[in-house]
Amino acid sequence: MNKSIPSRLPLFIDGDWVQSTTKEWLDVTNPATGEVLTQAPYTTEAEQLQAIAAAKQAFISWRNTPVPTRARIMLKYQALLKEHQEALAEILAEETGKTFEDAKGDVWRGIEVVEHAANIATLLMGETVENVASAIDCYSYIQPIGVCAGITPFNFPAMIPLWMFPLAIACGNTFILKPSEQDPITPCKLAELFEQAGAPKGVLQVIHGDREQVDFLLKDPDIKAISFVGSVPVGRHIYQTGTQYLKRVQAFAGAKNHMVVMPDANKNATINNIIGSSVGAAGQRCMAISVVVLVGEAQSWIPDIQDAMAKIIPGHWKNPQSDYGPLISPAAKERVLGYIETGKKEGADCLLDGSKITVDGYPHGNWVGPTLFANVTTEMSIYTDEIFGPVLCLVNVDHLDDAIKLVNDCPYGNGTSIFTASGAAARKYQHEILVGQVGINVPIPVPLPFFSFTGWRSSFYGDLHAYGKQAVRFYTETKTITARWFDSDIEHAEQANMTIQ
Ligand code: NAD
Repeated sequence: MNKSIPSRLPLFIDGDWVQSTTKEWLDVTNPATGEVLTQAPYTTEAEQLQAIAAAKQAFISWRNTPVPTRARIMLKYQALLKEHQEALAEILAEETGKTFEDAKGDVWRGIEVVEHAANIATLLMGETVENVASAIDCYSYIQPIGVCAGITPFNFPAMIPLWMFPLAIACGNTFILKPSEQDPITPCKLAELFEQAGAPKGVLQVIHGDREQVDFLLKDPDIKAISFVGSVPVGRHIYQTGTQYLKRVQAFAGAKNHMVVMPDANKNATINNIIGSSVGAAGQRCMAISVVVLVGEAQSWIPDIQDAMAKIIPGHWKNPQSDYGPLISPAAKERVLGYIETGKKEGADCLLDGSKITVDGYPHGNWVGPTLFANVTTEMSIYTDEIFGPVLCLVNVDHLDDAIKLVNDCPYGNGTSIFTASGAAARKYQHEILVGQVGINVPIPVPLPFFSFTGWRSSFYGDLHAYGKQAVRFYTETKTITARWFDSDIEHAEQANMTIQ
């Protein structure tokens, strides 16, 4: 992989890296320094049509490529990604500001999905029943659907593209990736390595842009399925428009994840987990804990939570002391600062205010320090809205039942966790909670790729989720065959054999 970053990012269409002919380019900046790293093109309509045509053409032979051949490309790809994990993480840290460890984790969790895609043969097994009627057998095959597209957010520029194209392609589809315009360099490097792994031309294309390019993909009749990850309003738009154009759509959206803390929980472990899961990655994770619900006596831990959080410092990814990096853009920082001011006006107790923080040597970074609000109530916008920054809200309740009601009344259902030493409390919580991913003494319960990423309610629009068996079903059609062979034909077959002899 070439580690250098070109001054203008090319498009990847039909196996070629080509310069866009567009006149509109978008700056991609380093969020810790404000420096422009490269420019990404707003792909023209003609170029988008070329990308779709290349994917459509490549599908003809790729769907007939033997499954083990497809799987071997994934094996090679996994090895290349591992070999270049650190180089990818450096690029990723430059364009997202994530700490180096976090950046390596972003790549690693994507590699795990590629490993899953390398096992595609067993995932593509159909079903059979012999003798469904006299001398009639019934069996099913799993076949690819065609050209698929993926639209990804800024906060995991390696992991989330890798949630999508390796599995879609291993299933026999071809793919068009439109990564976030805020950090599109890492996804280009992922495509470069995929090409090196032996992916035939046209199997994967990468185009750039934002709303206009996405809307074009949503409406094009040659695209059969759309995978989206991003914010709630955009997720709704993608789901509504994509399905209106009769496509299969899976849209993963925003979140407000609650951690419920019972007073019998292991105090030190719980507080460490609260801090890491709320302000880690500057709170820019869809599974970040943004609300901690303190049950009964656990409310006495507030000063300890405050002390632990006060020790956390943001900084540049090259400084190993940095606990997390900057927000992705000046606009994201402004938005988070706006919420901090609103929280104060709404009457929550601001125990830590990160809005004035600076980082030595990086005056132009989008820094926000750890921010803690106590006595937050459910009408406050800091409670109802996804802030997507290093801001944690503490809510007090008396009983576990109150905590369950609170979480179930929140429209989001991406992730939640309970910290307790009681198996009975944990079991009640896992059973009654209306959230798709539940952690028990685990703060951010992201399932490994042999399960699926199963957000619920306003955190997901669609039926079949990312990776695991569900993604294979999302990217395929089932063909069911009912077959009868006539005994009387056996005699003809035998005679034909005798003739050959
Ligand atoms: P975003 O919705 O702004 O952008 C996501 C993608 O959609 C980008 O590629 C962008 O170019 C495109 N886009 C933006 N506006 C559009 C529009 N009006 N029409 C069509 N396309 C548009 O999201 P983001 O800020 O990049 O990412 C952060 C959000 O993603 C947060 O809300 C976070 O919770 C969510 N997220 C969810 C998950 C999950 O699995 N549920 C995972 C990661 C991030």
